[in-house]
Amino acid sequence: MNQGILFVVSAPSGCGKGTILSRILKNKKFYYSVSATTRQPREGEENGVNYNFLSKPEFEKLIAEDAFLEYAVYCDNYYGTLKAPITEHLSQGEHVILEIEVQGAMQIRKLCPDAKFIFIAPPSLETIRERLLHRGTEDAETIEKRIRQAETELNFKNQYDYCIINDILEDAVSDFKSVVRAEELKIQP
Ligand code: 5GP
Repeated sequence: MNQGILFVVSAPSGCGKGTILSRILKNKKFYYSVSATTRQPREGEENGVNYNFLSKPEFEKLIAEDAFLEYAVYCDNYYGTLKAPITEHLSQGEHVILEIEVQGAMQIRKLCPDAKFIFIAPPSLETIRERLLHRGTEDAETIEKRIRQAETELNFKNQYDYCIINDILEDAVSDFKSVVRAEELKIQP
């Protein structure tokens, strides 16, 4: 059986990546890697579905056990990808999607040279502010922190293989599917 492809997807907060990915993940050939984090669950988020929500000592214990493929600190919280499910699903021929921020993506670049890197960008920084305000899950201070973080993250765009601008959702979903298809059809050396 062919190995699946590892897709690493990054996007600043408020780029609508969750909406794009929920459409992509309707196809069962994808496995979405559920990360671990120390941030508090937002309303409606479920443990084991959106994230594995851990305490700081629990997270640090896993770091010490070398259980993470990558991890990073983002806006004062730990976020990390556990190694075991990734290798398991890739070897079953599924494509694995990691939705992670840029520091983690750069770690994966070094560790997994076959991974494909997709950056989802907003049409402008102002759209991020509007989306975060509309989402209403963060307070004003956190929104400003996330916008500053978004500016920093946009500087990393050129380190990725593909950039999809999420202006019109249908177009962004279709662009994402095109990237996956092109990678599936690529002749392996
Ligand atoms: P949020 O708090 O909005 O769910 O996520 C904040 C940021 O952390 C997002 O950019 C998201 O992609 C990133 N993130 C989520 N899981 C992981 C992970 O396992 N590793 C890393 N490095 N970043 C992650």
